[in-house]
Amino acid sequence: MSDNLTPLFRQYWEIKKQYPDVLLLFRLGDFYETFYDDATVTAQALDIVLTSRPGAGGERVPMAGIPFHAAERYVARLIAAGHRVAICDQVEDPRFAKGLVRRKVTRVVTPGTVLEDSMLEAKANNFLVAAVPSSKELADAAWGLAVADVSTGEFAVTEVHGPSPALRLLEELERLAPRELLLPERAASEPWLTPPTPSGWTVTPLPAEAFPRRSARETLLQHLGVQSLRGFGCEEMPLAIEAAAVILGYLHPDKVGMEAARHLRSLTTYSLDGFMVLDATARRNLEVTQALWDGGRARSLLGLIDCTATPMGARLLRRWLERPLLDPVAINARLDAVEQLAGDALRRGDVRERLQQCADLERLASRAATGTATPRDLGALRRSLALLPELRALVERGTVGLLQEVAARLELLSDLHEHLCRALVDEPPPLVRDGGIIRPGYSPALDDLRRAVAEGKEWIANLEATERERTGIKSLKVGYNAVFGYYIEVTRPNVPLVPANYHRKQTTANAERYITPELKEQEATVTGAEEKIQEMEAHLFAEVRDAMGREAARILAVATAVAELDALAAFAETSVRLGFCRPVVDDGPVIELRNGRHPVVEKFGEEPFVPNDGLLDDRDHRLLIITGPNMAGKSTYLRQVALIVLLAQAGCFVPADAAHIGIVDRIFTRVGAHDDLASGQSTFMVEMTETASILHHATERSLVILDEIGRGTSTYDGLSNAWAEAEHLQQIGCKTLFATHYHHLNDLADRLPGVKNYRVAVKEEGHHIVWLRKIVPGGTDRSYGIQVARLAGLPDEVIARAREVLTDLEAQSRNGGVPSSQARIQEKREKVQLTLFEPETDPVRDELRALDLT
Ligand code: ADP
Ligand code: MG
Repeated sequence: MSDNLTPLFRQYWEIKKQYPDVLLLFRLGDFYETFYDDATVTAQALDIVLTSRPGAGGERVPMAGIPFHAAERYVARLIAAGHRVAICDQVEDPRFAKGLVRRKVTRVVTPGTVLEDSMLEAKANNFLVAAVPSSKELADAAWGLAVADVSTGEFAVTEVHGPSPALRLLEELERLAPRELLLPERAASEPWLTPPTPSGWTVTPLPAEAFPRRSARETLLQHLGVQSLRGFGCEEMPLAIEAAAVILGYLHPDKVGMEAARHLRSLTTYSLDGFMVLDATARRNLEVTQALWDGGRARSLLGLIDCTATPMGARLLRRWLERPLLDPVAINARLDAVEQLAGDALRRGDVRERLQQCADLERLASRAATGTATPRDLGALRRSLALLPELRALVERGTVGLLQEVAARLELLSDLHEHLCRALVDEPPPLVRDGGIIRPGYSPALDDLRRAVAEGKEWIANLEATERERTGIKSLKVGYNAVFGYYIEVTRPNVPLVPANYHRKQTTANAERYITPELKEQEATVTGAEEKIQEMEAHLFAEVRDAMGREAARILAVATAVAELDALAAFAETSVRLGFCRPVVDDGPVIELRNGRHPVVEKFGEEPFVPNDGLLDDRDHRLLIITGPNMAGKSTYLRQVALIVLLAQAGCFVPADAAHIGIVDRIFTRVGAHDDLASGQSTFMVEMTETASILHHATERSLVILDEIGRGTSTYDGLSNAWAEAEHLQQIGCKTLFATHYHHLNDLADRLPGVKNYRVAVKEEGHHIVWLRKIVPGGTDRSYGIQVARLAGLPDEVIARAREVLTDLEAQSRNGGVPSSQARIQEKREKVQLTLFEPETDPVRDELRALDLT
């Protein structure tokens, strides 16, 4: 940057200086331009042309611009790419500016603060999260977390303490999947807090001043308008309070250019302990919100279950699935409600029909509060509020428990509805500048102006007829153009008939155009009144919008109740449609399923689904080893057990004929390398969590799913690892389902209490396998690898030859000849078994213990 800048660039740098790490969109004529490095980044992100403009001293300044009328679309793409954008507008009319037009940043848009529908996903939250560490040692620090969704008005805090706080913080961040994460500068450079994938959150580093340790509580008290935080449950949580204050600071109107935090009024404090832990790995492997094969939602659990009718219901249902409950009382309250709705098809249909017409109340309330709601938004709000009385009546009557409570929370908001009805026309326009927003009768002053316009226009409309009559000129016309306004047009041959009070204004090819003083006067009245009407409508609309904005908290409370009703009705609807049953959920140690199904495979699989029973407890059925050939159905069975537990604890019915679910505190999954279809995707946490996390964190209340672990290394290492892990899990006493092709693990059942062998039954017909898909007691002694190879389409000669080799190898190993790999494992296995009885000093056991446990 040289010193002798042009005035324009001097102004640019004055402003840019305040927004160093934000893309500055600088209004120049009909474009928003970016300069210097911003231009390079913008051109690349938007795939637009990078040009340049002369700076000072012959320097060329890189420049990339977007047309202002399409700004929203481009900004949306910059935000989607994780950028933050400051919009710098001209704040005076260029026609009247002396010298350089004044410019100012009017809005800062960041991934966590967007409100425009075009930049939001309807069915997902858009969380802005602040994380505050307790000390400089980040790895051991406790953390305060504040979570806000500016688009829906949610605002919550929590603290992360206890062992491995960093891991728990990451788990919670993974669950929240924030769009934007606010961190102290020094933490922002920590690679473990920054996911490498573009789909992850944008990290926004904040300077030390943004972390107001001392004044945080005061800031929060003031914002919430209270004397104490006790009512919000976070009085004793200084880190959480500080995090909340960081969010409020970041959303200050001076920073973002709008009232972004006004509606964040009902702060809730939540505990990470109230919910089942489902880390990113488990969510991914169980395909809770995304299918592994295509990353899509359709074939995920969420895609199957979610038939909510409103966006806020969809967001809540997603949260329920991602965060199942631990308290049987709360779970059963949801199940009771689902049962009531499931058992009454008529009522459920009526409720869902009303919900279908309900707009996104959370986002509408938020836009009202931030002053960004359009007339059409308030129209949608009115339409939605109109549904409340019927909705409440439908829910209230004859229901008990949670539904009764939801009904009670459905405040009718008739004052707001009535205000909107009085103020707005039936179909409010998309934008304020379109006009025609306010209903006649709402404002006498506005009505007077409108009457004046109407009368003036009518006078003008009649003018043609009266003047034709008065002058006898049959072809006389009254017209309008933008330059001269209204005129009377007389064709040339009739000009001699023109009366004296006509003043000639314009000559055209074959006519003359005139005005009269009366016409001028009427015209002035009309245009003057129209301008005033526009101003007045804009003003009245802003008043109505602010009135709604001030009541955002009430609207949001109703929105929450509607969301809950919607999610419960969706659980009920899905349960009925897919033939789910109500599970018995309690604190006991037993998980027992009769004819359980994997709901997604059942729905999308190509063959009729074969249901299976299941039993896990704290005695003989703690660790189930499940063997069977490739493609038999092992993975499906494991996941179906986990999904049924998850659904039950989320409060939904489950795909089974009967289910008894003892609460599970956490579901772990680990999938061997070859089955890990998504490896190479966002696995930034996987390394950190998987094995270590299971072995360190599993309790006897946990459910552990191990699918083909130990593949991808040599057989020898793989088996050893699998063996050691199984043994360790058996000691912890967690409920474990272990699918493996190492049928040698079947020996564990004889060695350790609580281990049971199962296999997926198949039938051999000649050289073919028929899949029975039935889980039956007992182990397997062979892998059917060759038969599966046939199924996969290997040529017959190859298969025949494989059969020969196998027979050979088996014979050799029996005769003590050259040991086949089978035989070597057998040998190893015998050693391992021996050592189980001499635990103190065996080198092989030490070796096994040392292998890949953390
Ligand atoms: P494995 O893990 O034993 O290799 P999978 O669980 O991946 O086998 O199952 C292979 C395929 O078989 C699945 O994609 C599914 O289509 C089908 N399948 C599995 N279990 C069942 C079942 N119980 N009923 C019907 N089809 C099933
Ligand atoms: Mg499998």
